[in-house]
Amino acid sequence: MSWVDELVSMVFKSRDREFYIVASGLTTSGPAHMGTIMELLIPYTISKAIRLHGRKAHFIFVADTMDSLDSIPAQLSNFKELKDFIGRPLCMVMDPYGCHSSYGYHFLDEIVDMTKKLNIEFDEILTADVLYREGWYDDYARLYYSVLNDVKEVLERTSLRKLPNDWKGVVKPICGKCRRNDLTTVLAFEDDTIKYRCEFCGYEGAMNIESHEWKLLWRLDWPSRQDFLGVDIEGGGVDHFTKGGSWDTAQAVHKLIFNKEPPIGFKFGFVLIEGKKMSKSKGIGALSEIMRILHPAVIKYFLLKHDLEENRNLRLDPKYILSLYDEYKSVGDGRYQNLKQLKAWEFSGGIKWRTSFSELLVYYQIYRDWGLIKELIKDEETVDDLVPYVEELIRAGMIPEDYDIQLKPTPPPPNMRELISEFANLITEFMSDVEIHNTVYEVARRRGVDPSELFKSIYITLLGKPRGPRLGKFIKILGVRRFKEIVNDVLSKI
Ligand SMILES: [Zn+2]
Ligand SMILES: [Zn+2]
Repeated sequence: MSWVDELVSMVFKSRDREFYIVASGLTTSGPAHMGTIMELLIPYTISKAIRLHGRKAHFIFVADTMDSLDSIPAQLSNFKELKDFIGRPLCMVMDPYGCHSSYGYHFLDEIVDMTKKLNIEFDEILTADVLYREGWYDDYARLYYSVLNDVKEVLERTSLRKLPNDWKGVVKPICGKCRRNDLTTVLAFEDDTIKYRCEFCGYEGAMNIESHEWKLLWRLDWPSRQDFLGVDIEGGGVDHFTKGGSWDTAQAVHKLIFNKEPPIGFKFGFVLIEGKKMSKSKGIGALSEIMRILHPAVIKYFLLKHDLEENRNLRLDPKYILSLYDEYKSVGDGRYQNLKQLKAWEFSGGIKWRTSFSELLVYYQIYRDWGLIKELIKDEETVDDLVPYVEELIRAGMIPEDYDIQLKPTPPPPNMRELISEFANLITEFMSDVEIHNTVYEVARRRGVDPSELFKSIYITLLGKPRGPRLGKFIKILGVRRFKEIVNDVLSKI
């Protein structure tokens, strides 16, 4: 069974309902990366699977726009003025590009754009600043202060950290002077009034809870939001689920403070790029780049085919990229190695390409004319779907050596000339690529030559190098007639 089936049957077993709320929260603190896709693709896939099993699902994406900007991502290091906004809520940080009301909303929009390209759909998008402004968290703040000792005990036990004796930090007020909400300390809470001190600028002030100039501590924010949204299932990266992580706190808050069953949790592995963990601030593996070379369905397939908690390591070397495309097509053609691959393919959109990516790569390098290629292969649909990615890989020089093709007719070694000529005479337009391939073996065997020598010599004749794409396919793409012309031409000039 694939992870998604396992998870969904577990959800049905522990919560037998007709309707499920699936949620995902994300801090919109910078440009999206592959990990951002995971945070949305996994719950989206779960909601899709719930629907496939005949029940209803509602997928909510909550943008944590009240989180403070803790560092400036590497890609934005040119925007020096952002430094002045560190520590402020993302919805109150300037949009460096000037097109949105704030930094948090700019990157929220980027995420939404990206998910559109990936066909990941939400039923609802909520932003934390609006939820706070509408008062959804007010009663939770009041509740936590009314049982402050219990809350403190839960936090200490589940975060494995000791809190100060006079701790009252249920909320993080936004400083009335410097507007930061990362370094404020609550001094007192009484009759809905929060008194605080800002450790950054030294300001001391007070605010009413209904001013909504505050947010809950993250570990309390999460269970509160899950409670008022009625979340049934929500996951997170493995880092949230370690011992002492925020999931432990969320669960304990549901059980001990709300006296309710917590939502069902699940955790998923990291996405590594070239074996390295990505981070927003380091900017490794820029998503925009990956999305230029990998078709959205292949990105989703890659992320979904692993076990849920396994790390995914995306390699950006040309061979690996090409193998992902070819694997995707194989699964679509019914040639899959395991059920996980099939499920991942189905949930990625289940596209069936009639022509393989590597074939298109060869076609394009030979003909450089998509109109002509469409006529030759009679598969307009696949060409239209894959053109941008084929062109981008060629432009970026990300083609495996074997697939880097430029016709460069070159004389083969003298002892191979007769064999090549015999091979050329034996093949016809009506043969399949496999038959052409097998003819190489046939000729070599008859002449008592190692077939690999003959393959090498044919590649040299065509490309001036001893390797190339699979020969039968390559000659089919080139055209048997054209192949014979090249061979005759090269051999006649010797
Ligand atoms: Zn903007
Ligand atoms: Zn301040």
